[in-house]
Amino acid sequence: MPEFDLVVRGGTVVTAADVVRCDVGVRAERVAAFGERLAGGAREIDAGGLLVFPGGVDSHVHVEQRGNASGPGTDTFLSATTSAACGGTTSILCFARQVKGETVRESVVDYHRRAKASVIDYGFHLTVTDATDTVLAEELPQLIRDGHRSLKFFMTTERSHLDDTSILKVLALARAEGAFVAVHAESFAATEWLTRRLLESGHSEVKYNACAKPITIEREAIQRVISYAELLDVPLQIFHVSGAEAAAEIERAQRRGLKVFGETCPQYLVFTAADLDRPVEEAVRYVFGPPARTRADHEALWGHLRRGVLNVVSSDHAPHAYGDPGGKLAGARKRGFATTPHGVPGLETRLPLLFSEGVAKGRIDLNTFVSLVAANPAKLFGLYPKKGTLAVGSDADLVVWDPKREVRIGNAGLHHRVDYTPYEGMTVTGWPVVTVSRGEVIYENGRALGREGRGRWLPRGPYDAIRPRGRFPIPFDPVAGRIVGG
Ligand code: MN
Repeated sequence: MPEFDLVVRGGTVVTAADVVRCDVGVRAERVAAFGERLAGGAREIDAGGLLVFPGGVDSHVHVEQRGNASGPGTDTFLSATTSAACGGTTSILCFARQVKGETVRESVVDYHRRAKASVIDYGFHLTVTDATDTVLAEELPQLIRDGHRSLKFFMTTERSHLDDTSILKVLALARAEGAFVAVHAESFAATEWLTRRLLESGHSEVKYNACAKPITIEREAIQRVISYAELLDVPLQIFHVSGAEAAAEIERAQRRGLKVFGETCPQYLVFTAADLDRPVEEAVRYVFGPPARTRADHEALWGHLRRGVLNVVSSDHAPHAYGDPGGKLAGARKRGFATTPHGVPGLETRLPLLFSEGVAKGRIDLNTFVSLVAANPAKLFGLYPKKGTLAVGSDADLVVWDPKREVRIGNAGLHHRVDYTPYEGMTVTGWPVVTVSRGEVIYENGRALGREGRGRWLPRGPYDAIRPRGRFPIPFDPVAGRIVGG
């Protein structure tokens, strides 16, 4: 009998820390050994001349999400996770979102049922849109203890945003129960007001999306939510940081010693606000919020990624169709940017885009690449070292990667169930050859091989990133309600 279930032979294994040429042996779904000449495997993959990464962890993905103004999108858990696998991602975290007026638990139960179709492993963030007493006192504490260790809230959009008092309550709850918090930070009041003024003065074209959501509004919300998190001593991740001014606000907080982390996405490194200034048929492909900024912002974001101010690159995959009746074009034809579904699909193209724009163009090194797409999201969301690295005992989730392969991205070649990609026609250098999830090949040379329902839910226990600093800026612990210090 062969010693291993699978041996990946002769590749260059890259983790967040190391670049080592060796074999990887897999037994019983986990990494069992590294070595120069491992014994045989029931299956062998020749990775000579190729890179071997830990499978990607995408910590910001919208799939079959209830309660969106623009509907759940066209992907299912099966199609979305298949497309993730084909792009080298082996774990996703998506959103069990509370529909206003309903409970969080209803969404969680519904989500567990739907997500069973997944091809890769998955977990949920709990999105709170209505911080009622019952939600705070009963539902969230139980759901957190059950293994849903991260909360998300919005500071913008009519249907989703929490007011400031609710934000303080949710942060206090997160600290008391030990949950990690992620936030969409843009000012609701300012965006709504600007949107109304633009529409009243006849400026509804898609290009005005950038005007309605300027970086000033993002920067203000980031500054505000960081201040609240500082007051309550709660670690925080800021979602989809779009440009220099927003990232600078995070860096300032980090210099004060706060546990504030920043995420960005490929769309903020590739597109600019000028992409919205095209005929509506094209422009709608680039509508997302916060919007893309400028070329100068791209370079600033790369600098922040190199320095770790921003330490995660997720996809923010949002599978709204382009052409169907609920899609982006039909939305834009109602009342312009204000009614265009926001967000772009990106699960399958996340690793190729970051590798091509980052590693192939010399902006980041291989270890930074793995940190951004796998190790750091796994650490921040309690999946490490089961996910996000290759070590003895880790789940055997890995990608065999061809760093030289040039691919022209086309929607016909992608596996999501969305009728466009904003990256159509772009040529990237670097593409996955094989994706392995818990020792099983689920993608090989353009073919999706993952079986429906093989993915497993990833319950997450208390973990390091959640731990507060234990310090308040005032001599009062507002969570426990007691005077502290001198
Ligand atoms: Mn999102």
